[in-house]
Amino acid sequence: MRHRIAVVGSGPGGLAFARVMHRHGHPVAVLERDPAPDARPLGGTLDLHEGLGQLALNKAGLLAEFQALSRPEGQAMRILEADGTVLRDWRAGPDDQANPEIDRGQLRDLLLGPLDVQWGRSVTQVVPGTRGGVLVHFADGRQDTYDLVVGADGAWSRTRAAVSSVMPHYTGVTYVESSLDDVDTRHPDLARLIGDGSVAVYGVNRALVAQRNSGGHVKVYAQFRAPLDWHTGLELADAEAVRSCLLELFDGWAASVLALLRHATAFVHRPLYALPVSHTWTHVNGVTLLGDAAHLMPPLGAGANLAMLEGAELAESIATATGPEALDEAVRGFEEQMWARAGRWAKITTAGLERLVSPDPAEAVALFDQVQPSPMG
Ligand SMILES: Cc1cc2nc3c(=O)[nH]c(=O)nc-3n(C[C@H](O)[C@H](O)[C@H](O)COP(=O)(O)OP(=O)(O)OC[C@H]3O[C@@H](n4cnc5c(N)ncnc54)[C@H](O)[C@@H]3O)c2cc1C
Repeated sequence: MRHRIAVVGSGPGGLAFARVMHRHGHPVAVLERDPAPDARPLGGTLDLHEGLGQLALNKAGLLAEFQALSRPEGQAMRILEADGTVLRDWRAGPDDQANPEIDRGQLRDLLLGPLDVQWGRSVTQVVPGTRGGVLVHFADGRQDTYDLVVGADGAWSRTRAAVSSVMPHYTGVTYVESSLDDVDTRHPDLARLIGDGSVAVYGVNRALVAQRNSGGHVKVYAQFRAPLDWHTGLELADAEAVRSCLLELFDGWAASVLALLRHATAFVHRPLYALPVSHTWTHVNGVTLLGDAAHLMPPLGAGANLAMLEGAELAESIATATGPEALDEAVRGFEEQMWARAGRWAKITTAGLERLVSPDPAEAVALFDQVQPSPMG
């Protein structure tokens, strides 16, 4: 019997799930709120780890295509003090495929391939235990029924309420994201500062990070500890007001570093939220979660990787499940495995955020030395 399966969300996790299911000959309904693939900017570059995101792409048969698109040189990392002193200048070796970078849009297109996403389908509620299956309600008033609904709908998941009442909490750290375009031609000094990958500058309870995407596009993140209402009285839509506020916040830093803020455009406010470390739930037949919906954690390079591997693993384990009991058994097994691994990463990333945006900037450098044991250059 073919199961009726839906995945809510076409982020890295949902698409990895759908693509591996497709590879095994099982079509699933991909329900996505965005009205079209290009409805909004997708955000900065992602580094995909060999044992996580790349493993998922291998399970989807897409590893070679990823290697052709990705940027191993983007792993380069330079660390500066607030006065501009270079503390570390690390470059990947020519064959280093440990964590190459890829633009989110490129990754999305790679995973999409032959998949037929249902754009503009905003899920409002998922109701398990209904006779005949799990009921999915949509914002336009329609409803559909499935045997299994996979919530891959991110931080503010609507699916999550079907299994857990827990909501994300503010971590105490806010990012303000902005961009530079054509950096090599328009801002050659900044291009040199950033190098082939990223530059991170650490101060007391704040950091400035600039990360190269493809095509000369750079994402700049101002990161700082602040109460959630730090912007009271500031018009967040007014780019010049936000720029002035950030320049004041980073007052005293080297002019070469502050140029990142002076030239950046399109400021986006991103307070960082997280679910409790080791968030689990009592299993509910017919509904599960993966990725940020299940274990939102600080953005230290793990979230998309975990979401993709979970999507691929869930697909592999249910692809061979023939009856309702086998399907439920496979989902239970998947959840146990996901909780154990995500719990370990949530601990690592939560501790990491404490050290990266910390009262003692030396902590950030010490963390870098711990995770990057073979500095070059
Ligand atoms: C600044 C920053 C940098 C990061 N860098 C990295 C990195 O380098 N490496 C890494 O691994 N991770 C990184 N992350 C984390 C990563 O972005 C997330 O962990 C990852 O995107 C989670 O994938 P997901 O598929 O679970 O959810 P998402 O990517 O959030 O996708 C969820 C999808 O569900 C859709 N959706 C939401 N609600 C509904 C609804 N009600 N109905 C239908 N559809 C819905 C959304 O439109 C979206 O398409 C970073 C995060 C941030 C903020």
